[in-house]
Amino acid sequence: MASSDRQLTIRNHDRDLAGLTYVYPVLSRRAGGVSVGINLNPNNACNWHCAYCQVPGLVRGSAPRIDLAQLEAELAGFLDALVNGDYLERHVPEGLRQVRDIAFSGNGEPTSAAEFADAVGIAVRLRTRFGFGAEVPLRLITNGSLMGQAGVREGVRRLGEAGGEVWFKLDAGTRAGMRRINGVGPDPDAVARRLQASAERCTTWVQTCMFRWDGQAPSDADIAAYVAVLEKAGIERLAGVLLYGIARPSMQPEAPRLSPLTEAELEAIAERIRKTGLTVRVSP
Ligand code: SF4
Repeated sequence: MASSDRQLTIRNHDRDLAGLTYVYPVLSRRAGGVSVGINLNPNNACNWHCAYCQVPGLVRGSAPRIDLAQLEAELAGFLDALVNGDYLERHVPEGLRQVRDIAFSGNGEPTSAAEFADAVGIAVRLRTRFGFGAEVPLRLITNGSLMGQAGVREGVRRLGEAGGEVWFKLDAGTRAGMRRINGVGPDPDAVARRLQASAERCTTWVQTCMFRWDGQAPSDADIAAYVAVLEKAGIERLAGVLLYGIARPSMQPEAPRLSPLTEAELEAIAERIRKTGLTVRVSP
């Protein structure tokens, strides 16, 4: 689940992490530290195809079977290197030597893993074992499309119980808009219901990416349809909106059709969303 903030990977030539399948570190200057990433999609498979997706070699599909024992061993090993070892001193610049979160945020849709709820259980347990509290939240970065499934809801419930957060993707409010941007055309009312289901179980932020398509910025009607989905899900249930531009290049064939909005344009969209009463954080 690529987002424009999560890409400064420090895995290159890193012997501590050589051979890990499910766990990777991301250095985020914006977040001011290291995010411990959990990738349940080592096969680069997602059930969506977002035009701006930064996963190279993205294919359509689901997560493979997850080896939970291996996931637990990798996550425990990496948290141990961070907490008890000198990983931060050796690999992370001064000023950024803090763990910021533990995030299900890999190369595809994490909730498509049949073992997703168990994987959340492992992350919750290890976070406690290594002495992290609310300062290191658990996050799920998801397209939200599978939120109707009982197993996914159970995983999100566990995340909520542990004080975690869901970042739920919503880039458009119409079937045509979602088909163009996300490569799927769901009923917007169903999307609103899934967003509501997430927010009822766990603190939920909406993560939105906006940009120009063939030079055209989103229209007023596009923004109105998007806001209507938020309203149907229930403004009062949502933590807010994380509004992103496209700071980093898409790895998909649609890349040449995309170009960024100006900061002022993104801010104007943020203002429109704020009229609903929602908090909006803009990352151009
Ligand atoms: S939801 Fe979109 S951005 Fe996220 S991994 Fe799938 S295709 Fe990429």
